[in-house]
Amino acid sequence: MSAIQALRGTRDILPQESLLWRQVETTAQQILNRAAYREIRPPMFEQTNLFERGIGEATDVVGKEMYTFKDRGDRSITLRPEITAGLVRAFIEHKLFAQGGVQRLWHIGPAFRYERPQAGRQRQFHQLDVELIGSVDARADVEVIAIAADFLQALGLKSLRLDLNSVGNGEDRQRYRAALVDYLTPYQADLDVDSQDRLSRNPLRILDSKAKRTQEIVQAAPSILDHLSPDSQRHFDRVQQYLTDLGIEYQINARLVRGLDYYTHTAFEIQSDDLGAQATVCGGGRYDGLAAQLGGPETPAIGWAIGLERLTLLLQQLQNLPSPEVDFYLVSRGEGAEAQALKLAQTLRRQNFSVEMDLSRAAFGKQFKRADRSGAVACLILGDAEADNQTVQLKWLQTGEQFEMPQAAVGEKVDTLRQKIAAIRQEKAE
Ligand code: ATP
Ligand code: MG
Repeated sequence: MSAIQALRGTRDILPQESLLWRQVETTAQQILNRAAYREIRPPMFEQTNLFERGIGEATDVVGKEMYTFKDRGDRSITLRPEITAGLVRAFIEHKLFAQGGVQRLWHIGPAFRYERPQAGRQRQFHQLDVELIGSVDARADVEVIAIAADFLQALGLKSLRLDLNSVGNGEDRQRYRAALVDYLTPYQADLDVDSQDRLSRNPLRILDSKAKRTQEIVQAAPSILDHLSPDSQRHFDRVQQYLTDLGIEYQINARLVRGLDYYTHTAFEIQSDDLGAQATVCGGGRYDGLAAQLGGPETPAIGWAIGLERLTLLLQQLQNLPSPEVDFYLVSRGEGAEAQALKLAQTLRRQNFSVEMDLSRAAFGKQFKRADRSGAVACLILGDAEADNQTVQLKWLQTGEQFEMPQAAVGEKVDTLRQKIAAIRQEKAE
């Protein structure tokens, strides 16, 4: 019988890689905390029509990428393909209006899209999602962009570019859409198949087609930026001014439209040059129409999502995977010694040391080799002699220096041990 394997497009994040994920999550938490964003944990599946109404049926995500199924009660259910729609649903459902009607929310978790798997593109992937709901202020746009930039910088990323655009309000977009269709229609036969299909359903999406001939045609297309109303223009100008005030560099990219239907005004992406085809790590924008589209009150909002697979791929190019931190590797052999080792491990763990206990009952030599590989700072050794005398050998693995002490004395020595371990770690890090 062949062994069962994970589904195509899904991946196990194994313990070593998880350390990097944890580092990413901790950094996110710190940066978001200091800007007063609060964590929210919505469910991973929702009614299908949340996404149909929210994201728009003409988008790739809803049109062909959703994991949708009927449950046993014959309801149509969808595994969330992104996080924003669920957060806005929760915002409306629980009337989450804080002071000034503003909520700052974040969430990290999986999302699901039926796509062709490749590096950085999976069927179950993960997003860090950040939303500022309830403000039209251009400072809100810049706040979320600044948080994304700070977060990526805090992780050590450097070769990043911020692309910025405005897709205006609904009316601006309608006027632009008409102009774009007028321009593209004569070229219809030259467009790639997907774009031909989009010409009637979602023409703005043609602007970010990856097909070469389509890109050439689009080069000379009218620009959304020539179709902004004075109000939309004013908002866009403010966003740019505030970005400049904060010293955040950006480039205007009038062809940046983003895939989902709910975007208005500001659209942005943060790209990395090190990622090959999947260059976008962060995508976001303003979505003033979404809450109303979902049946809630008119509520302006802006947010972004960072794809964590792509981000961690990038980080792995920049740094080695972090290694686990173990204080003591506990070696024991002989029945009495093994029983005492179990107790000693418990004592040390309760003192907040991390202790890895060897369970192999193998020869000492083998256990010592494992101790060396474990990354532990010190090895504790219990054999028959130690068991008889109620003592333990402590060996500092870096220097090989070793001494014996009574097991009962371990409790009194915790402070000295802690200091010494910290000093050795510090030295290693430098
Ligand atoms: P793309 O054009 O690369 O398909 P998208 O516009 O579909 O991106 P968004 O819906 O904006 O992506 O999602 C935000 C981020 O989530 C992306 O920038 C990317 O980092 C990540 N992402 C999207 N789809 C996947 C996937 N299938 N696998 C891994 N990460 C993904
Ligand atoms: Mg996509």
